[in-house]
Amino acid sequence: MQTLKEVIYDAESRKVAVGHFNISNLEGLWAIFHAAKNLGVPVIIGLSEGERDFVGVRQAVALVKSIREEFNYPIFINADHTYSFDRVKEAVDAGFDAVIFDGAKLPIDENIRITKQCVEYAKSKNPNILVEAEMGYIGTSSKILDAIPEGASVTPESFTKPEEAERFVKETGVDLFAPAVGNIHGMLRNMPDPHLDIDRVGKIHAATQVPLVLHGGSGTPDQDFTDAIKAGVAIVHINTEIRVAYRDAIKKALADHPDEVAPYKIMRGAVEAMQAVVEKRLKLFNHMN
Ligand SMILES: [Zn+2]
Repeated sequence: MQTLKEVIYDAESRKVAVGHFNISNLEGLWAIFHAAKNLGVPVIIGLSEGERDFVGVRQAVALVKSIREEFNYPIFINADHTYSFDRVKEAVDAGFDAVIFDGAKLPIDENIRITKQCVEYAKSKNPNILVEAEMGYIGTSSKILDAIPEGASVTPESFTKPEEAERFVKETGVDLFAPAVGNIHGMLRNMPDPHLDIDRVGKIHAATQVPLVLHGGSGTPDQDFTDAIKAGVAIVHINTEIRVAYRDAIKKALADHPDEVAPYKIMRGAVEAMQAVVEKRLKLFNHMN
């Protein structure tokens, strides 16, 4: 089976993207796995610090690896948005395939210093692990927003600059880089998210020479994804859209069957709804439409 690194480089060379989807529970994991398996494409499962605390750090690894082994399937696990070296270390030690140190809110020198420390530790424990870092603030929460997050980079002047990205990647040795190019975490209530700066994506990719990761994919217009993937994005993160599908389906199940108490029956519709969201996104990222 290909390693995660091989999967990502393969996607980059074919100008498709690997989907990264977050989970909070086993329902989400099955939904994402079934969606990927139906289409025959690799997939990355992500858990933020909060999601890891809920599922269990080592338990999340055990769940994903059990599917990988039983089905001999390229499904990988990433420690999404991690805000300290100690929590990066915890994920590395637990056996995650990839980790993200998120120092986007820190001054650049501080971000570089801690990212470098994370890279050195991760590679010393597991030479195959991938480390990603972020530059440019895009908000932090995967939810429905009434407005663009305070302080987020949404104008070209505040987007990640190619020369700073190049310096960052060189000095830290990260495998993957997540820029701010108009993307925001969460999705806006009454409109699509802002457009991505595709030209900037291409320039950052050329300057850094590493696969780029697009965060905050939920709510982004389809054409923007397609163009960004052509320009160098090799991984796309989707979380909020899955959360919305999950919540809406549970609400409906409880309303339709007020006397049902079996969790696996109440949750069945939620798994199907999450799976449908993931399949739709994976088709787009892999040009299967
Ligand atoms: Zn993110």
